[in-house]
Amino acid sequence: MSLRNTNIDKLQQENFDVLVIGGGINGASCAAALAGKGAKVAVIDRADFASETSQASSNLVWGGIKYLEGLEFSLVRKLCLSRNKLCRSFPSSVREIRFFTAHNRNTRHPRFFLYLGTWLYWLIGNGFTKKPSIFSKKFVEKKHTVINTQNCSGAIEYSDAYLMDNDSRFVFNFISSAMRQGAICANYVEAEGSSQEENGWSTVVKDLQGGRSFRIRSKLIVNACGPHVDFYNQNSGQKTKHQHIFSKGVHIIVDQITPAQKVLTFFANDGRMFFVVPMGDKSCIGTTDTKVAEPKTHVTQEDRDFILQNINALLCLEKPLTHNDIISERCGVRPLVVEKREADQAADWLKLSRKHIIEVGDNFISIFGGKLTDCLNVGNEVVRFAEQCGVNLSHSARRWYGESSKQCRDTFFYQAQVLKIPGKHAKRWWRFYDIDAFELLANIRRDCHLQELLIPEIGYYRCEAEFMRKREIVTKLSDFLRRRTNLAMIMNEETLRNHLGIKEVTKLLFPKTFEQQWQEYFSVTANDNLRASK
Ligand SMILES: Cc1cc2nc3c(=O)[nH]c(=O)nc-3n(C[C@H](O)[C@H](O)[C@H](O)COP(=O)(O)OP(=O)(O)OC[C@H]3O[C@@H](n4cnc5c(N)ncnc54)[C@H](O)[C@@H]3O)c2cc1C
Repeated sequence: MSLRNTNIDKLQQENFDVLVIGGGINGASCAAALAGKGAKVAVIDRADFASETSQASSNLVWGGIKYLEGLEFSLVRKLCLSRNKLCRSFPSSVREIRFFTAHNRNTRHPRFFLYLGTWLYWLIGNGFTKKPSIFSKKFVEKKHTVINTQNCSGAIEYSDAYLMDNDSRFVFNFISSAMRQGAICANYVEAEGSSQEENGWSTVVKDLQGGRSFRIRSKLIVNACGPHVDFYNQNSGQKTKHQHIFSKGVHIIVDQITPAQKVLTFFANDGRMFFVVPMGDKSCIGTTDTKVAEPKTHVTQEDRDFILQNINALLCLEKPLTHNDIISERCGVRPLVVEKREADQAADWLKLSRKHIIEVGDNFISIFGGKLTDCLNVGNEVVRFAEQCGVNLSHSARRWYGESSKQCRDTFFYQAQVLKIPGKHAKRWWRFYDIDAFELLANIRRDCHLQELLIPEIGYYRCEAEFMRKREIVTKLSDFLRRRTNLAMIMNEETLRNHLGIKEVTKLLFPKTFEQQWQEYFSVTANDNLRASK
């Protein structure tokens, strides 16, 4: 029986301390925190884990330098400290990166003022990163020939951090960590509403794969539905002081624009910061920030045009980027938290805070807003609230986050080297699977055929497919292509479809339903493309 089916049986049969609804970054980090501290946790997501906003971010772990403009010093401080903690705790996957910011003469602030801002930012972040620098226009012309220097007065450079792999993989690693601590997790299980019974909460859920409905019983509910938090609260009779409003953000992925392992930062024509973020041998460009009424949204021609026009004006490419250069797209809504009484007022949209708020009702916790960068704070706060709600945390002093020790990592690299696994592949295994990566080595020792490299572009081996099938609740092909790996970001549909290694992995992941999965994935993406182009 698959792990998902086993877990669905357990969800029906057992009583839980906490049911976490939603497996984006907020739900996943809460689940890892609560399970790590000893609570009995269940996690469900109505689609795949991290299949909404948490798969559409800029992959940045940052203190939010731009919020200094809105004088949100305490938010910036909190995010900077969170960034530092993530860098220290996940040294293999959260890495410091330089942000090279070309300064345009027409920008709101003079270059030196921005430079002072980066120093303030550096100080607020406890001087954790490399110090900021300032550069002349000549330097930009010489070292970053890709940047259009027509209106450029020079540049400044400061540090933040980014996720080496995609955001959804980072989220899934919290789900994995929760499962290692005994949490019962299932994707494609929708919560339809929760009601209070004598001994706690009863939540009606539907297994969207099998079609069955059943109830999950828990003492506490964590509503981590991201942009859908308000809808779920309505369905469960919860009244809150806060609510969400939505901002759509789009990125496009193109072939690598510059080999510099830096984030190129600009000010777009609407005054907002605009990034070119490295994504392996590709570049991720964005983002837009458009107010939308609904959490479900998609990329429009207008979004693409906005990004292409801006990037073509800011860069000096041999050939301007066109729609044909777009390999893939990322689109999500930022759930921004506001007080209900302020929701209708025309606040300065771009200045709305990106903080998170946690509201606690009668053993019912709702998480509003937030950022990926904030995930450890969210996890810790929810643990505190859960304790106040009477959840028994048998390991309350235990640290719940972070990759395994350096000693463990070095042992893994040594053993991988003995098996002649190239260093860069071993590093990715460690980032993806942490301590479970030892299992991959053990499997290769048992059967050397498992060492076959199936997807060279990301260094993906046969043994990983076997591991993912058993342990990573890969229910649909898109879970694998888009979220457990970033293949669907770095390859266009045609390349994916014609890739023999990907076909082979799909057969290994879905031995009985290969044809159906293959058909479904490519017919759905084809439909998505058709709809988006309208
Ligand atoms: C364009 C963009 C760029 C961003 N860039 C960054 C960045 O660089 N750095 C950063 O720190 N932050 C960034 N953010 C913010 C960050 O991505 C979000 O704050 C975060 O991903 C929100 O996570 P979440 O868990 O609240 O929501 P989600 O990731 O949306 O998760 C909610 C989950 O709940 C599930 N769900 C909903 N309803 C139900 C139900 N009834 N039953 C079961 N499951 C349900 C959904 O399927 C979904 O998986 C960015 C956001 C956007 C949009």
